[in-house]
Amino acid sequence: MVVLTSTLTCPRCGHTETETMPQDACQWFYDCKGCGAVLKPLTGDCCVFCSYGTVPCPPKQAGNACCSDTIGS
Ligand SMILES: [Zn+2]
Repeated sequence: MVVLTSTLTCPRCGHTETETMPQDACQWFYDCKGCGAVLKPLTGDCCVFCSYGTVPCPPKQAGNACCSDTIGS
């Protein structure tokens, strides 16, 4: 069972927000609703949910390689 909601924590202001994750795409950018900072994935992570969320993105949960191959290209 894939979890589709993840709570993101902003590394800048500590604001938390529960968001619904897209099942078939990775979200690389997220605007913090607390301070307005644009969050980007950390090195080695495929999306903001993997970097800042309580739950990794659906493709990762399913054991797929996700879109990490395309990052940095
Ligand atoms: Zn913030």
